[in-house]
Amino acid sequence: MIKSLWIKFLILLFAVSVIALSAAYFLRGLMVRDFRAFLEGEREDRVYWVTADLEATYDRYHDWNKDVIGEDAVWALMLGFEIRILDNKGLLVMDTEKALAGLSPLVRSRVLSVSELSPREQAGPYLPYPLFLAGNEIGRLEVRFLKPGKESVFIERSNTFLLFSLIALGGLALVLSFIVSRKLTRPIKRLAAAAEAVSEGDLKTRVPITGKDEICRLSETFNRMTQTLETQEVLRKKLLSNTAHELRTPLTAMQGELEGMQDGLIPADKLHITSILEETARLKRILNGMEELAQAQASALTLKKEDIDLGKFLPLIASRFQASAHEKGVELNVGYERGISVYADPERLSQIIVNLLSNSLKATDRGGSVTVSATRKGDGVLVEIQDTGSGIKPEDLPFIFERFYRASDGGLGLGLAIVKELVEAHGGRVEVKSEYGKGSVFTLSLPSQ
Ligand code: ADP
Repeated sequence: MIKSLWIKFLILLFAVSVIALSAAYFLRGLMVRDFRAFLEGEREDRVYWVTADLEATYDRYHDWNKDVIGEDAVWALMLGFEIRILDNKGLLVMDTEKALAGLSPLVRSRVLSVSELSPREQAGPYLPYPLFLAGNEIGRLEVRFLKPGKESVFIERSNTFLLFSLIALGGLALVLSFIVSRKLTRPIKRLAAAAEAVSEGDLKTRVPITGKDEICRLSETFNRMTQTLETQEVLRKKLLSNTAHELRTPLTAMQGELEGMQDGLIPADKLHITSILEETARLKRILNGMEELAQAQASALTLKKEDIDLGKFLPLIASRFQASAHEKGVELNVGYERGISVYADPERLSQIIVNLLSNSLKATDRGGSVTVSATRKGDGVLVEIQDTGSGIKPEDLPFIFERFYRASDGGLGLGLAIVKELVEAHGGRVEVKSEYGKGSVFTLSLPSQ
């Protein structure tokens, strides 16, 4: 069983090269076969020319004219075969040797040099071709083909070429297969090692990215994944220590009061019991707030989005705050563009706006105003919650969306963290601008579709 991926790649690439070279070998076989068939046909044609000429000569002279058929024998030699001509009694009338002997030395050497590529000593056996004239057998032509020189040259060259291909291309294929398979598997090996490191708890592991192919995309995803895991781990630790800190304060206060009562230093009267009850209520509020935050974080997958007509939705939410605003002496206004709508989960959107409105009302004193408005922007919608309240100090501004961060006394510091989670779950953004002492504006950018 082969375990290493690069050896599998190597074998695969090498197998492909062998298949390609085998195909070349097979094709060469087909070509040689076709070439031979072509030569065969050519040879038959040539024999036919000679028989036809011999029969015509016999017809013209009513006998075998040795001078003329001698020329035919020379011609046949130049066409690539030796002949013997026998009469109807089977007696030899002419053959190639005799025809050549009848030639002058100069012409003979010329004729022989023409058939030089076809060595006469490698000729095959004599084959008979009967000669006819008007239905009567007038004799027999016997033909012995010389080994076709052109065919030998062709086959020899194709063999050399194939051998060269096998050695050169096969070697090249092997080297290339080796390089390519190493190159392909190197980033996979790195990824495997990095994944192993992550599984052992090293979340700082990253893999280098070189290029744009699928493996690089996988590496990028891997790096993003480890980055997310690392961030989540940091957040988890921070949340744990934040939560412990938040829970410790009321618990310590309660413990102090209860110990005081136990030692008789603090009276167990209504006043002190109410104080302890307030601390327990705060503990409950913290736990509820954390539950709400956890739900907000998980809400991206459970949103029930629909088209919400903000012209109806915003006044309805604002109406829940009208009584308390009136009591506080704060003006609460709602404004929106006609027919404006947003694609969101109504319950979650209501939670977002309620949190922001209650913060603004809390921060705004008598005579001030809070305005919630909706306008279109590009493909989306902007919802603004603006107040003329206390504003936020510049040093607090970067942290107000963090869990448990409070810029003022009283709250839990979870409201804006929940808002941020919910807005981002909708694919939106929340931003804040604030001037300390003058007021703040929270802007939600939400997709309208
Ligand atoms: P909390 O439960 O304390 O209100 P939030 O997360 O809602 O927590 O807000 C974080 C801090 O941001 C608050 O302590 C508050 O001081 C500040 N803040 C939020 N909204 C406003 C606002 N509209 N005006 C002034 N300060 C604000």
